[in-house]
Amino acid sequence: MGCDGMDYSTIVDVFDKMEATSKRTELTDLIVGLLKSTPRELIDKVVYLMLGRLRPEYEGIELGVADRMALRALSVSSGLDMKSVEELYVKTGDIGEAAEEALSKRLQAVLFKDKLTVERVYSTLERIAMLKGEGSQDTKIRYICNLLNDAEPREGKYILKIITGKLRLGVADYTILDALAVAFTESKENRDILERAYNLTSDLGLVARTVALDGLDAVKAIGVELFRPIRPMLAERVSSAEEALDRMGGRCAAEYKLDGERLQIHKHGNKVRIFSRRLEDITSHYPDAIDAIMASIKVDVIVEGEAVAINQDTQEYLPFQELMHRRRKYGIEEAMREYPIALNLFDILYIDGRECIDLPYIERRNILEGLVNGSMGIVSIVPMLIVSDAKSMEDYMLKAINEGCEGLMIKDLNSPYRAGARGYAWIKLKREYRSELADTLDLVVVGAFHGRGRRAGRYGALLLASYNREDDTFYTVCKVGTGFTDEDLERFYGMLSPYIIRHKHARVNSRLEADVWFEPRIVIEVIASEITLSPLHTCAMNAIREGNGLALRFPKFTGRVREDKSAEDATSVDEILSMYRRQLKVTRQVQASEEDTGMIE
Ligand code: AMP
Repeated sequence: MGCDGMDYSTIVDVFDKMEATSKRTELTDLIVGLLKSTPRELIDKVVYLMLGRLRPEYEGIELGVADRMALRALSVSSGLDMKSVEELYVKTGDIGEAAEEALSKRLQAVLFKDKLTVERVYSTLERIAMLKGEGSQDTKIRYICNLLNDAEPREGKYILKIITGKLRLGVADYTILDALAVAFTESKENRDILERAYNLTSDLGLVARTVALDGLDAVKAIGVELFRPIRPMLAERVSSAEEALDRMGGRCAAEYKLDGERLQIHKHGNKVRIFSRRLEDITSHYPDAIDAIMASIKVDVIVEGEAVAINQDTQEYLPFQELMHRRRKYGIEEAMREYPIALNLFDILYIDGRECIDLPYIERRNILEGLVNGSMGIVSIVPMLIVSDAKSMEDYMLKAINEGCEGLMIKDLNSPYRAGARGYAWIKLKREYRSELADTLDLVVVGAFHGRGRRAGRYGALLLASYNREDDTFYTVCKVGTGFTDEDLERFYGMLSPYIIRHKHARVNSRLEADVWFEPRIVIEVIASEITLSPLHTCAMNAIREGNGLALRFPKFTGRVREDKSAEDATSVDEILSMYRRQLKVTRQVQASEEDTGMIE
C-alpha cells in the first residue's frame, strides 16, 4: 500500500463488521485491524471517518446534509424516481440501507467505474462541508452523486450515513485510544500516555497520527496549545461538608459554584476564542466577554470561568435559563443588552507560553489573582475561601446560595488540573432537591433601589418584607428585580412615590440599606424557587440558625399588585417559617425515598 491510496471498500468491510458486533473486545480488535491496515499518513482521516466526522469536533465542521438532499442525490444516481427512493427509506427506516438497496437496483450498469479510495471520499466530503449558502445545494448534490456513481451499493450505504450524520458504529473515544495503543505501541499499558495527549488536545486524529508516524515519545511531547481546547476537569459529588472536608484531608479551598455556562477562553494577542464545556466553539455567543477579556488581561492565556446572567440592578446572579438567550445566531447584540453577564474566572491553564496545568491548584489561583485585580468590568475571579472546618464550609455555602449560587466547588489545594478527568480533587457541594415553591407570597414593599442601564430613572429592585403580628413589625425577606415589564416599572414609580419617607420606617426591621424607603403600604405577589437561610434578611432571624434569617431564592414578581390587601395582610413571618420547615421535610422525604430505592437495587 502507499501512493495508490487505500481502497474505500477496506474500511467499509470493517464498518459492516463493527455494526454487527455487540462485544466491546471484538470492536476494539476490529479497529486495531483497520488501523494496522491503514497507510500511516491516512490514520487521522480514518479515525475521523470512523467517528462520522471530518475533523475534531471543536472545529465545528458539519457535513450538514439533510435527509432530503441525500435522497435526491440517491435518486439521481440510482435512476429511481424520488418516490421510490423515499419508499425505500420508509421501508428500511435507515438511510444507509435505503442507499444500498437503491444502488443495487441501479438501472443502467455504470461502465467505467473508478474505484473509490479513502482519500477521494474524504476530500469530496470535505468539499461538501465547505459549501455554504443558498446556491450550494445543487453543487452538493453533484458532489454526492459523483461519489455514489462510482460506489458499490455497500459503499454507498456508508457515504449516506456519514453525510447525514447517522453513522453509529458505537465507538467511544476510549475504544479508539485502546485500539491505538495496541496497534502502534504493542501494549495496552501505553493507553494512559495517549489519553493524556487526547485530554490536552481534544483531537483523536492528531493523537493517532502522531503515534502512528512519530511514536510514543512524540505523543509524550504533545502539550497544551492555544486555540486547541483542553478537555475539562470535572467534579465528583458528596452530600455533606464533613465528607468533602474528609476527602480533602481537612483543609481545602471552597469556591462559589455558579450556575451558568462554563467557558474555556483562549487569548493570543487580540485574538480570542471561547469553547463550551462540550468543546464547541461558542465565541460568537459572547462578544461582551471577549471585549472584557481583552480589556482586563494583557498577556496570552487560557483561562476557565463561568458566565452567569446577572440582574443589572441588584447585581444578583440569575438562574441558568437566562443565559439561553445567548444561544442564537442573530440578535446577539440585543441579547447582550437585555441579558448582561458576569464572567467569573476559576482556573488558568496557560500563560505566556507556559503551560500551568501541572501546577498545584493554589499556585494556579495565585497566578489568576495576579492576572485580574479585583473586579475589572464584568470579569472577576470567583470568590474563594480556604477552610479547615465543616462549619465554615457550611456558612460559606449559605452565603453562596444566598447570592444566587448553586453551592460550592471544593478544591484540593495541591491538585494539578486533571484535564478530562472526573475525580475527588474537585467536589461539588450543592443544595439538592430545590423545588419551586408551590405557593406565591404576598409581600410588602418597604424600600427600593435605583435602577441602572435600561432602568435608569426608575426603581431597579424592590425590598420586600413579611409581617409579624406579635411585635407589629415588617421583616425583610428578599430583594426582587425580576418579573417587571416596562409598564410595571412605570406604574410602581408612580404608585410608590406618595409613600416615600426620609428614613427607614420605624416598623421595618432591615439589615439592608435601601436607596429609598417607603411607608409599608403596597403589597405585591411574588413566586420564588425556594426559601433559604440568609444573614442579610431579618425574617425569622435566629429561628433556624443563629445569625440567619429566611430569604427567598430567585424571587420574581408575578405581575399582580395585591390592591385587595393591606400591609398587615401580607404573608406572615410564621407562615414563611412553616413553609421553610415543609420544604425541609419534603427534601428529607425525597432523600429517604431515594435511599430506599438505592437499597432495593
Ligand atoms: P456539574 O455541571 O454540576 O457537574 O458541575 C460542574 C460545573 O460547575 C463546571 O463544569 C462549571 O461549569 C461549573 N462551575 C461553577 N462554578 C465553578 C467553580 N468555581 N469551579 C469549577 N466549576 C464551576
